[in-house]
Amino acid sequence: NQQCCEKDLDTEERTFVAIKPDGVQRKLIGEIVARFEKKGLKLVGCKLIQPSRKLAEKHYAEHKGKPFYEGLLDFITSGPVFAMVWEGKEVVSTSRSLIGLTDPKKSPMNTIRGDFGIDVGRNTIHGSDSVESAQREIKLWFSKNELITSSITIEKWINED
Ligand code: GDP
Ligand code: MG
Repeated sequence: NQQCCEKDLDTEERTFVAIKPDGVQRKLIGEIVARFEKKGLKLVGCKLIQPSRKLAEKHYAEHKGKPFYEGLLDFITSGPVFAMVWEGKEVVSTSRSLIGLTDPKKSPMNTIRGDFGIDVGRNTIHGSDSVESAQREIKLWFSKNELITSSITIEKWINED
């Protein structure tokens, strides 16, 4: 059936993750990337980029009109962001688990936001909230030739099937 063939032909699930300007300034890139790597996820693209206002507006379109929207755009465009695409089984939800809750104060310890942040407006990291958001955000931030389907095959050491 189609689902089986699409899965065979296509890559694994992908998600968009970005270390926000606070995380980059605070030298947390290495620590955060290490957590994703150790979890068994596969990095398929990354770059340091200071997003334009236009890119930030598109990325956070769903929040337009909310009280924190303008401040959020000011913040996310205020310095370099470390943008990444990660691949793996159920990578969208796995990444959100690694990241934790939106408000760092409420986010459990051993999550990235729980460990590194205090304020909701400085919560260190972004991760797509669904497979659909991930596809939209990956397209927004990366061109196809920036994403590598690498020959590093760790799947059999991570997944049973
Ligand atoms: P996320 O998916 O967990 O990042 O959360 P949302 O999609 O709801 O919000 C996007 C981003 O906007 C969050 O990561 C926060 O940085 C910021 N944000 C959300 N809610 C608030 C808020 O109430 N106040 C402020 N200052 N920022 C917020
Ligand atoms: Mg969100």
